[in-house]
Amino acid sequence: MSRLTFCTCIAESVSAITLAISAMMAPAAAQVGPPPLVADLVMANHILFDQGVVDGFGHVSVRNPANPERFFLSRARAPSEIEAGDVMEFDFDGKPTGGPRDKPVYRELFIHSEIFRAHPQINAVVHSHSPAVIPFGVVEIPFRPVAQTGSFLCGGVPNFDLHDTFPDAANLLVTSGDKGRALAKTIGNRPVALMRGHGNTVVGRSLKEVVFRAVFTEVAAKLTAQAIALAGGGKVKYLSDKECELTTSAGQTSGSNEGLERNWETWAKQVEAKKR
Ligand SMILES: [Zn+2]
Repeated sequence: MSRLTFCTCIAESVSAITLAISAMMAPAAAQVGPPPLVADLVMANHILFDQGVVDGFGHVSVRNPANPERFFLSRARAPSEIEAGDVMEFDFDGKPTGGPRDKPVYRELFIHSEIFRAHPQINAVVHSHSPAVIPFGVVEIPFRPVAQTGSFLCGGVPNFDLHDTFPDAANLLVTSGDKGRALAKTIGNRPVALMRGHGNTVVGRSLKEVVFRAVFTEVAAKLTAQAIALAGGGKVKYLSDKECELTTSAGQTSGSNEGLERNWETWAKQVEAKKR
């Protein structure tokens, strides 16, 4: 073996060993976001599953407090299975900017990106197909609350029909920025938008508020449908706008941090208990 060949072999071996050591030392999955916020995002997914708001579909996101033009959302995975290492960061164009970028992403992440872009006061978004809500998107009957836990719904629940704006869309999914922008426009300053033939989207100022609203939107839909069925075509006495205002300001619903904390704690403990 010539001196040159010998040196080349040594160099290649050292290079291969260096690469192997680097691979061994590389983190399994680069985690993003402040750990407490990521832990809450994981818990939000598990609560929404446990409360019957999401199933294998549905997702929840939170704005990055350190960079308001970014948000955190899991890679495409069933909400009940999500872990901290699944959380990714995205920009408003839906491009991944952190987290496990080699994994598939939710096709409907544009629901989140365009709502965060259009509504700076919104810091958390839930999209679900929660079953009791869907019928209100396909009938002429308005979705109004009959109990105080749904008082945040007073003032109207807009109905987003994708085919009004995109008549040629192949399906009802929000799979592009322009479809996300249409939904963000429809939801406006309301906490909830129905999505005809598909599901609903809920927004909030925090993860705890958006989870509270998503759970009690499903509860309100059940109660309102029961009241309408019981009435048998007769009159239903809905909460008045004044009652909604007073029950919210009295701290019984989403206007109260204490109310949000109390429900979050209950739901989180239930999730933890089921893991044991
Ligand atoms: Zn959907």
